[in-house]
Amino acid sequence: MNKKLNIFLAGPRGFCAGVDRAIEMVKEALNKYGQPVYVRHEIVHNKYVVENLKSEGAIFVEELNEIKDKSRPVIFSAHGVPKSVPKEALELKLLYFDATCPLVSKIHKEVEHFDKKNLPVILIGHRNHPEVIGTMGQSNREIYLVEKKEDVKNLQLNQNSFVAYVTQTTLSVDDTKDIIKEIKRKFKNVIEPKKNDICYATTNRQEAVKKIAKNCDYFLVIGASNSSNSLRLVEVAKNYGSKKAILVEDVDSLNLNIFEDINNIGITASASSPEILVEKLLNKLKDNFEIKINEAHYQKEDIYFKVPQSLKN
Ligand code: SF4
Repeated sequence: MNKKLNIFLAGPRGFCAGVDRAIEMVKEALNKYGQPVYVRHEIVHNKYVVENLKSEGAIFVEELNEIKDKSRPVIFSAHGVPKSVPKEALELKLLYFDATCPLVSKIHKEVEHFDKKNLPVILIGHRNHPEVIGTMGQSNREIYLVEKKEDVKNLQLNQNSFVAYVTQTTLSVDDTKDIIKEIKRKFKNVIEPKKNDICYATTNRQEAVKKIAKNCDYFLVIGASNSSNSLRLVEVAKNYGSKKAILVEDVDSLNLNIFEDINNIGITASASSPEILVEKLLNKLKDNFEIKINEAHYQKEDIYFKVPQSLKN
């Protein structure tokens, strides 16, 4: 008889509303304008999604000056862009569409708002992540980037003056709380965002993992190594009791020998990973083990972001 494996499947998992909308925008653009359509940066951080869109006629570039045929439309990725990017697109006379997730745009507006009030802005996030580059590029003034608690101590700002903070959307909920506490400890007058900047999808996926991690010997997170929300899910699984946790970037190359001495596996997928990859992983496990699936539902999600009307045929 085959070896038995208990699978704990996290819910919710996989695509969020911002990712769905961004992919839909590229598809609608291909539908309306034909091939090729350019996309600035990976539309979402997932190789499977990018390769599929390439096969449908999308061309991915990192910067607008790489676009060979300037008569073709270009779409900006879900992570958001600095203000200099739409400005450059206008100068190059490009037809552009912005697939920035509305929840990232909300943070851009917060930065603008704090800017108008001349408040120094602290951004909690990961250096060089495209979302952080985009958010920092909403202001002509210096934005103070903080990656960890220790960075708060080194901030060269007057402790008695008013400061505001915003965060990246895909951070660890727990680590960010600690950093915010540290900011409030150091500064007397802290202006907070109206609503938590860590988005609903990041929060729900992390909470779902927290609920089941303690049952698991091994946690598999389907996602990409350049995806912030994927990496955070691996950390959360480890921090909340899974003996091991790994990122699965390619289901085909997952070595099944790692399950030799274990019985309980947790599975989730990051906000940029499609459900088809979860099905592929489950089928691979089904072909090799006798599996029992326990699916947990932490929270129902029904958020939907509309594709701009201008992209409809
Ligand atoms: S993870 Fe959150 S902020 Fe990022 S695209 Fe999804 S909903 Fe938007």
